[in-house]
Amino acid sequence: MWGKFSLINQGCRLNAAESQKIIEELQKKGWVFTSPESASVIIINSCAVTHRAESDFRKLVRKIRRENPAGKIIAIGCLVDFNEDEASMADLYLKNREKMSLPDLLEAAGNETELSRWKARGFLKVQEGCDLGCTYCIIPELRGKSRSVSLSDIENRMEELLEAGYEEVVITGIHLESYGRDLGDREGFLGLLRFLEKYFPDVRFRISSLDPRYLTDKLLDYILSAPHIMPGFHLSFQHYSNKILKLMGRGTNKGFMKILERIKSAIPHAGIGTDFIVGFPGEDEDDFRELLDFAEQAPLTYFHVFSFSPRPGTGAAELKPRVPERIAGERSRILRKMAEKKKRTFLLSLKGKILEGTVIKNGEALLENYVSIKFSEGSTFPGKRVKFLVTAVNIEENYLFGKIPK
Ligand code: SF4
Repeated sequence: MWGKFSLINQGCRLNAAESQKIIEELQKKGWVFTSPESASVIIINSCAVTHRAESDFRKLVRKIRRENPAGKIIAIGCLVDFNEDEASMADLYLKNREKMSLPDLLEAAGNETELSRWKARGFLKVQEGCDLGCTYCIIPELRGKSRSVSLSDIENRMEELLEAGYEEVVITGIHLESYGRDLGDREGFLGLLRFLEKYFPDVRFRISSLDPRYLTDKLLDYILSAPHIMPGFHLSFQHYSNKILKLMGRGTNKGFMKILERIKSAIPHAGIGTDFIVGFPGEDEDDFRELLDFAEQAPLTYFHVFSFSPRPGTGAAELKPRVPERIAGERSRILRKMAEKKKRTFLLSLKGKILEGTVIKNGEALLENYVSIKFSEGSTFPGKRVKFLVTAVNIEENYLFGKIPK
């Protein structure tokens, strides 16, 4: 259901025009517009001109909750700026100055858990589009060639984020390592990270995703030694069999293991995750075994598993032979079980450690290595960076428990 949205417009013509723009942007990003009852995200573009508008907002939120209890409600529009109390009936709300970035934020969030982590963290979009051609991916078609945001626009956006009080900022883009190429900037993404370190030394940055094929030794050296970059990494491996990687248009697995080992030995508590696609056309037992062995041996701390589903208009949609659904489902199940095991081992290894985190909401924080921690002592504000001592692990529910050391 994630990826389906609804938008209800309240209020003036300006709201209607902005709503239209948000709908178009989300549709461009592959989101499907649907009714509020069947959407994963319901956006209310609210109005605050009269008291009536406020009560209409309240009624609407209650109605949506009744009809679609699983849906996430996001409030934008004037009510949010005028009456934050009312707006907080929604799961999330964005003020007027932030609301047009909603499509990018939704894309960056990527899933429902991430959604609830937004408010505490700023998002810095530095790049759009992609010059590469992975055969399963429609993004280059939909979003065009890689375009980088200039350093002066990045600086302005950072000023806004600092003014809004963010201490943690997520650097987002479709393919971050392409940063700067279209600007003729030879320093590229590494130059951007150095720029952020120089001008915003107090901010902790998180890199949303890295492509291991473009992660040079120089870039990795810098990332591993930079104090302003948080050690929670997502690397887009997708598979490990060279045959399948080639069919995916993603080269070979050269250097995959070395990158992981270098991260692990430099920062043992680093969170290192990836996505794997199983059941890609042509994947046979040997290919799956190669992927499984890699997943087992690699120092990954978590991974997500997706069964291949053909996207019309992509090369992979035409590829044969297709892997039967039953087999792809079974492979996903095996790999997910392994992911659970690895995550638990990792969580247990963190017990007794002191790690920094960003408070997400009262009693919950996101640690530097991208693991959730719950805490009961010490009050802190969402968005604040705090150090935690990890005191226990909830194995059943996959999270840590900790306290703020005195
Ligand atoms: S999967 Fe990523 S790298 Fe590949 S074409 Fe799509 S956006 Fe580009």
